[in-house]
Amino acid sequence: MNTHDTSRLAADLLHHFGRALQPGDSVVPGIAPTAVFHLPGNPANAPYHYGRYHNPTWEALEGALGLLEDAETVVFPSGMAAIAALLFTNVAAGDRVLVPADGYFTTRLLGEKYLQPLGISIETRPTAKFLDGGFEGYRLVLLETPSNPGLDVCDIAAAAALAKRAGALLGVDNTTMTPLGQRPLELGADIVVCADTKAINGHSDALMGHVASRNGEVMTRVRDWRRYGGAIPSPFEAWLVYRGLETLEVRFSRMCATAGVIAERLAAHDCVTGVRYPGLASDPAHATARKQMAAFGSMISLTLRDGVAAERFIEACAYIQPSTSFGGVRSCAERRARWGDNVPDGFVRLSIGLEPVEVLWASMDEALKGAG
Ligand SMILES: *Cc1c(COP(=O)(O)O)cnc(C)c1O
Repeated sequence: MNTHDTSRLAADLLHHFGRALQPGDSVVPGIAPTAVFHLPGNPANAPYHYGRYHNPTWEALEGALGLLEDAETVVFPSGMAAIAALLFTNVAAGDRVLVPADGYFTTRLLGEKYLQPLGISIETRPTAKFLDGGFEGYRLVLLETPSNPGLDVCDIAAAAALAKRAGALLGVDNTTMTPLGQRPLELGADIVVCADTKAINGHSDALMGHVASRNGEVMTRVRDWRRYGGAIPSPFEAWLVYRGLETLEVRFSRMCATAGVIAERLAAHDCVTGVRYPGLASDPAHATARKQMAAFGSMISLTLRDGVAAERFIEACAYIQPSTSFGGVRSCAERRARWGDNVPDGFVRLSIGLEPVEVLWASMDEALKGAG
């Protein structure tokens, strides 16, 4: 992974929109809340026709995300709407789809509830053993690395080679890393999906998602799916996410740096029985993580003695917001067993935010000691 390349991308991101301006234009994109566009005569003469087909604010966001992905990008009103677009446009009756057993739960649920009855087989493998057995016979393989919430890592380049050999499409849910932390398309994946609700927007005030691919046929299907299925983002939300994206690099690098410090200290803490963070040299995922990630992410998983200790810790820490989700400016945490994840009762998923590291650590250390 070449970090110099991502620095260049981060700088270009800030000037991308401005490069096409005419004198007197606004240097930031506007919000275009319209269902219809002025359309006299031949539609071929107008860039915009109707609000379900196109919108200039979506295009500003897609331009910025597309720059980071170095690929055609289509935005959706949530991460799941992007994943639904990927699934429903790339498989047909009789196809087999492989998804992680320990990945984002709703992706699996969507497949089982709506694709399986259409004659599509949804199969699972744990992320840590995702490559075992190859991908022969699959039409679509969907990977999520690091996995969520267990933070296992899978070798994307190796998965891409196996998918190619098997004639399968490889999709990667890159939500936890963003295009600045990990670049699946560069590593050979066919399609990336991302919940921009998380770090890309970063302010926990909007949902959004995107699909990106360098395969034109895939993107035509995905764009048509949005037009005809009608799952379109609101221009206002697209503008909010654009605004959030402008500071992604500074937020994400701060969050990852803080997470690295906190993970080391948690691993050495008497009250913590287990820690997973791909950046820890002792982590089973570390070698693969080093190979493919530009940073090690903002999420840490830790295990405390039991569920009561975990709840006490979350409750007592002044700078941890008890909430689901991750990638926002505020650190937050939750006990994942409350959702039925296959993890110990005392397992906590911790998302590191922008609090200065020593203040955050002092409050965590105190809360851990109190939790017992
Ligand atoms: C949150 C998340 C999603 C879904 O995103 P929404 O915007 O909530 O629909 C998908 N994949 C991963 C890995 C996520 O964390």
